[in-house]
Amino acid sequence: MKICEIYRSIQGESTRAGMICTFVRLSGCNLSCTYCDTQYALQEGTEYSIDEIIERVGELDSSLVEITGGEPLQQEETPLLCRKLLNIGYTVLVETNGSLNIAILPQDCVIIMDIKCPGSGSADSFYPDNISNLRKYDECKMVISGKDDFDWAVKYLYDHNVHEKCTVIFSPNRKNVSPKDLAEWILKANAPVRLGLQIHKIIWGGDVRGV
Ligand code: SF4
Repeated sequence: MKICEIYRSIQGESTRAGMICTFVRLSGCNLSCTYCDTQYALQEGTEYSIDEIIERVGELDSSLVEITGGEPLQQEETPLLCRKLLNIGYTVLVETNGSLNIAILPQDCVIIMDIKCPGSGSADSFYPDNISNLRKYDECKMVISGKDDFDWAVKYLYDHNVHEKCTVIFSPNRKNVSPKDLAEWILKANAPVRLGLQIHKIIWGGDVRGV
């Protein structure tokens, strides 16, 4: 598999924010979002076997492992990597951009799926069947780049009942939207979502790599 980096840090997003987590960042992505903060993962990478990844994950000693990217579902061995990690006993999160079919992943993975808003520049990339394949323990993340994105996202939730299927997290694109603005929009609309801030960026300051 083509791997950008494997490291141990504090989970910064999702309902598990604040927990110790090992991150396996896979290289390559099929999208090109306006706010991408992992550009380095789109090209850079080193070939690892699945056994080598599992050995490194073992050395980092966290029961929580996130497979992220880039876009992990682009690599055909990702489902097998997840299965092997699950069999060892890890809790496995898979962060995906929503454009590829999540049904290829083992049922026991927790899927954290983006639904791209128009401000991302990738809104038409979504794989529509993914909504019906969400389970209660999965999560959806929508990055909000402005009030238009916010209104679009709330309408999308109600049109597709996403919030009835799993937890939905709205996270501000911090270049365009402050946490305060997003909090006020959520409160005013009584939106059925959680406010998510990227706490790893608060802890280490901005786009610091490998944390
Ligand atoms: S899907 Fe994620 S990794 Fe890919 S371009 Fe968009 S933000 Fe970057």
